[in-house]
Amino acid sequence: TAPVPLILKSVLDEVLVFLIKEAQLKNIFIDIDVPDDLPQVVGNRGKLQQVLLNIVNNAFAAMPKDGRLSVSAQKTDDPFVRLDIRDSGCGISPENLKHIFEPFFSTKTNQGGTGLGLSITYGLVQELGGRINVESKVNEGTTFIIYLPTTTQKE
Ligand code: ADP
Ligand code: MG
Repeated sequence: TAPVPLILKSVLDEVLVFLIKEAQLKNIFIDIDVPDDLPQVVGNRGKLQQVLLNIVNNAFAAMPKDGRLSVSAQKTDDPFVRLDIRDSGCGISPENLKHIFEPFFSTKTNQGGTGLGLSITYGLVQELGGRINVESKVNEGTTFIIYLPTTTQKE
């Protein structure tokens, strides 16, 4: 499907609707800071939804009880929007951090984890013409940083 302009806040809301119940049950506070004048991102809506869903699902899994999910977006100098998705969960060790985007890497094999979520997410972000990075500290939390194009990128 051809890339279309997307209002990031709307796509985010579409995904969070599915997760509000779980957030309430786990007592996770969600705060969203997306400026009203943020440029539209350009891409495939379903792919962006899948990216956000995978990352927030992982964030929730890292916060079994109480926590905070902070989503913020900002314009950059490039034709990109920067999206930060931060959780206050268990964090990821430096050793594991090297592998999280690899297919089948999972620390949740006992809880039904397939280890495919982030490898698929990585591929989808590439297909959207963006980039994804991660920062994490054990027992403090994890932040996924995603750059999304605001205009169609030339190949
Ligand atoms: P799965 O969720 O099926 O295990 P993913 O590819 O989605 O597979 O994630 C791979 C691994 O990365 C997880 O098993 C977990 O160890 C780690 N991980 C991903 N996101 C987070 C997060 N927000 N907090 C802590 N660990 C995470
Ligand atoms: Mg996952």
